[in-house]
Amino acid sequence: MTTTLLVATHNVGKVSEYADMLSDLDIAWLSLDEVGISEDVEETGTTFLENATLKAQAYARASGLLTLADDSGLVVDALAGAPGVHTARYGGPDLNSRQRYEFLLSNLQGTTWPERTARFVCAIVLAGADGEVLAAAQGEVEGMIALQPNGKGGFGYDPVFFLPELDRTMAQLPPETKHAISHRGRALRAIEPQLRVRLHA
Ligand code: IMP
Repeated sequence: MTTTLLVATHNVGKVSEYADMLSDLDIAWLSLDEVGISEDVEETGTTFLENATLKAQAYARASGLLTLADDSGLVVDALAGAPGVHTARYGGPDLNSRQRYEFLLSNLQGTTWPERTARFVCAIVLAGADGEVLAAAQGEVEGMIALQPNGKGGFGYDPVFFLPELDRTMAQLPPETKHAISHRGRALRAIEPQLRVRLHA
């Protein structure tokens, strides 16, 4: 029997990323736009897990569907964990990605290299049709905020997220390498067994 699953995003790319990972399961994948939901849930949580849970529960209740939601961002130690859950809006609502990472670099001016440690974090939550949490997982990747941007791949803060072991920024990695090591890839792999159990049930 086909299971209908709502992915709490307006981004079709995100839906296909999940669909690719679970391509062997009999799932009808839907985005928020496809179920006619245009309102955004207020992300009032103080952690990525809280915000992913808020979104999964609210959209599950609004749609009456099994719902998968994620929340991600960048945590910089020298900025006491900022931008954290505010990563998407860091520096103001109207900035583009480049202006946002330049704002980050300017806030780290004068910071020594060993102080520039940071991590990307991603939380993923599955909620049942009436809003109960059925599965949750988090993935992280450790790195350093580069002194200047490098690379053209990826998105968001990737050009300034330097991976010391690979001697590259995230934006210099081919997509399969990024997926293998990224916070989102790790969170996906961590929740996958739980999703398989729930989606078969
Ligand atoms: P959200 O998960 O859509 O709420 O994303 C939060 C923000 O974190 C995005 O707007 C990006 O700026 C940033 N972000 C999340 N994941 C990545 C990544 O893999 N690379 C670069 N930036 C990211």
